[in-house]
Amino acid sequence: MLTLYNFLTRKKEIFKPIYRNKVGLYTCGPTVYNYAHIGNLRTYIFEDILRRTLEYAGYKVKHVMNITDVDDKIIKGANAENKNIYDFSESYKKAFFNDIKKLHILPAWKYPDATKHIKEMITLIQKLLKSRFAYKVGGSVYFDISKFKSYGNLSRLKKRELKIGARVDTDEYAKNTGEDFVLWKAVRAGEPSWPARFAGEARPLWGRPGWHIECSAMSMKYFGKSFDIHAGAIDLLFPHHENEIAQSEGATGKKFVKYFLEGEHLLVNGKRMAKSAGNFFTLRDLEKKGFNPLAFRYFTLSAHYRSQLNFTLESLKAAQNSLERLWEFVLNLKATPLSLKPGFKSPKKPGFFPSGAVLIKVREAFQSALFDDLNTPKALAVLWNLINDYNKNPKKFDARAILGLLYDFDKVLGLGLRAVRPVRPPKEVLSLLKKREIARKAGNFAIADEIRRKIKQLGWQVKDTPSRPELIHA
Ligand code: AMP
Ligand code: ZN
Repeated sequence: MLTLYNFLTRKKEIFKPIYRNKVGLYTCGPTVYNYAHIGNLRTYIFEDILRRTLEYAGYKVKHVMNITDVDDKIIKGANAENKNIYDFSESYKKAFFNDIKKLHILPAWKYPDATKHIKEMITLIQKLLKSRFAYKVGGSVYFDISKFKSYGNLSRLKKRELKIGARVDTDEYAKNTGEDFVLWKAVRAGEPSWPARFAGEARPLWGRPGWHIECSAMSMKYFGKSFDIHAGAIDLLFPHHENEIAQSEGATGKKFVKYFLEGEHLLVNGKRMAKSAGNFFTLRDLEKKGFNPLAFRYFTLSAHYRSQLNFTLESLKAAQNSLERLWEFVLNLKATPLSLKPGFKSPKKPGFFPSGAVLIKVREAFQSALFDDLNTPKALAVLWNLINDYNKNPKKFDARAILGLLYDFDKVLGLGLRAVRPVRPPKEVLSLLKKREIARKAGNFAIADEIRRKIKQLGWQVKDTPSRPELIHA
């Protein structure tokens, strides 16, 4: 039984998809006007865990993530660089796909670009005009929030906080009052525009879509009028997701989405990481500092997605250390010979892994942590308890069964456990190690220590064991 916290009801609910074993999942993707910061990436990792958990629970998931390639920020950036919006956003789009690959975020079924769905947006706006949820002013089209009776239900904006008749033109507004928001913006100098043929107009209205309409148009294009899960970060609750509900339900009269999931922010010194605040790191920044991207993935899994998470380089280092310990453990297991012990018989049912009563309980604990609204910190604790128990008494366990169980967990965690291979030291390090041995045997300890330092600079540590010195990747 999978439970998820639904922002529509503000409760944990048992997940029941619209169609028996299929799930439609739509997540708000990047606005490609800059490199994603690791706050954005935290949200995409949470959504990846959601998708993987649904698959782990046996659902067939269709995931759609939009790419916002036209909005206020993109136009501003493109104009500043004297480029059109397509040339301007191309490299950021590429960087986004590189980042998510490095973070083991599984590819979505579709990544629709906003600029390739202008037609669908115009059709949707036309429907809203017809049903009088929308009205035209000076070549622009607005959504009339006073007509949509449940406006504000998702974000709990009360009726008295709605400014009836007031209008807002900008794509982003984090105000706590609701106003009529823009669906179609009349063309302005220096902005890209498309012709919209709305009924009752002799000529097309040249302009561009407001930001919110794209997610309604694209999600309904790929999933139909209603679908299962919509996710993003908490700042999208209002106005973006609120407006999406109004636009979609206003046009179709049907319930738009069953479950809204909103992830909490990544913070720096207690403040939201944001481009505008200038307190951000990109994945590239972390890599330049010597971090593995998966250390960041591990770091985000150590907190629940609905808790704020404060980012520091020290805590990232701690996450990297834990991940390396996990990889080392897996490597050791891989090197352990197969030894089926009594009680570790082959699985009773095909596809049911692992064998052995103890491990079945461990798998249940891991699964119930994840199925409890994606409790990844608890799931990681289950994994580490298993490792600690094994380390205390390896003879009690079958190494291969544990390895199989860790691979099974990694279907959700995505920490690359199957792919870990022993890293071979480079020739330079090996030859330094030989020189150090010669120096040590000759009693030249100062030289031996100097060489040890050089080896360390190359990222390796020398550990002297009774039989021979060993190299450890630092
Ligand atoms: P954007 O590229 O600005 O459209 O943002 C992409 C996604 O990242 C959206 O779901 C945002 O809500 C989310 N986001 C922005 N800042 C943060 C943050 N500090 N922590 C987590 N998610 C964030
Ligand atoms: Zn969206």
